[in-house]
Amino acid sequence: MENNPICQLFGIEYPIIQAGMIWCSGWRLASASANSGILGIIGAGSMYPDVLRTHIQKCKQATDKPFAVNVPLLYPDIEQLMEIIVEEGVEIVFTSAGNPRTWTAHLKERGIKVVHVVSSARFAKKAADAGVDAVVAEGFEAGGHNGREETTTMCLIPSVRDAIDIPLIAAGGIGDGRAMLAAMALGADAVQVGSRFVASEESSAHQSFKQEVVNAAEGSTILTLKEITPVRLIKNKFYEDVKASYERGSTVEELRELLGRGRAKKGMFEGNLDEGELEIGQVSGYINNVKPVREIVNEFIETYSLHLKKLKAI
Ligand code: NDP
Ligand code: NDP
Repeated sequence: MENNPICQLFGIEYPIIQAGMIWCSGWRLASASANSGILGIIGAGSMYPDVLRTHIQKCKQATDKPFAVNVPLLYPDIEQLMEIIVEEGVEIVFTSAGNPRTWTAHLKERGIKVVHVVSSARFAKKAADAGVDAVVAEGFEAGGHNGREETTTMCLIPSVRDAIDIPLIAAGGIGDGRAMLAAMALGADAVQVGSRFVASEESSAHQSFKQEVVNAAEGSTILTLKEITPVRLIKNKFYEDVKASYERGSTVEELRELLGRGRAKKGMFEGNLDEGELEIGQVSGYINNVKPVREIVNEFIETYSLHLKKLKAI
């Protein structure tokens, strides 16, 4: 895969990106991913600035391969985070949840490669115009924060491919090598995988949350809270409370109050399966085990190659 534009851009072996995921992707997951030949990402959204610095430093010690940091642009202490990223010599930054024009030039002037995450062809064009090196287009199937328009990966990737000329990474609904092959057939150069890596030994998700991901079946997740920030999560007790609140005709303010603060941490990091927000993608329906990252990556590549061969034989 040495001719793949994403492998060339990041200096990685396989065109797979381990997604930055709040509370789940610390330095252990990012370095295990990097050491398995894919791009690992530290998810900074859930990290106070000093925690991020620690994770970057530990990641540098655990791997000599490239890794990235994901920064949601609505992060409260963003200037501080960006300063740390530059000081620590991080080479690749994935930005999300905000305007790509705000930080792209600043990072690129400092020699950092920038990728922006979008949920529509319109935003992909905006990111390309802002000068990013690549775009992640994430569809409706994805876990966590999501686009409001419910565009599935199947529809999103071809339209983004038509809208931009820079390298394209598909995300949302990619849980194994078959889905990876399909995304590449739709026009993606690489895939970004989140949920499958939540259920890895190295992810920092709580054991109970990992088991909940394994237990999840088809239809276990839903995209909700569109009035605040659309999010795909497991239909647990917290979700039932949200549903009841909608049924009562609650205002946005009442929904915001019900959500409160730190629900994602409570669910995914502390393992409170009733009261926490359990963010995961639709692919959780076919994730049936927790494995080391290296095994997950090897399986992706084997399945991808096998199905590519099958298709060529038709
Ligand atoms: P270490 O292995 O060095 O230490 C883990 C620390 O985190 C211990 O103090 C442990 O507390 C605490 N911890 C572990 N699991 C939980 C949990 N489910 N809920 C609350 N506390 C927990 O950690 P790392 O090197 O992996 O990480 C360094 C720091 O980054 C830690 O403070 C960790 O909590 C944090 N972190 C933050 C992430 C994020 O997304 N914000 C992701 C991963 C880690 P004890 O052993 O005393 O129970
Ligand atoms: P909340 O507002 O509910 O809570 C903030 C959480 O972020 C707390 O748990 C807090 O940890 C932690 N945190 C880490 N750094 C900071 C900081 N500098 N200032 C304040 N809080 C901080 O947010 P969420 O848990 O829903 O989301 C956390 C972050 O991740 C937000 O910035 C959000 O925009 C971002 N994000 C979330 C995604 C998702 O899918 N949910 C996707 C992309 C970005 P503590 O409890 O230890 O104080």
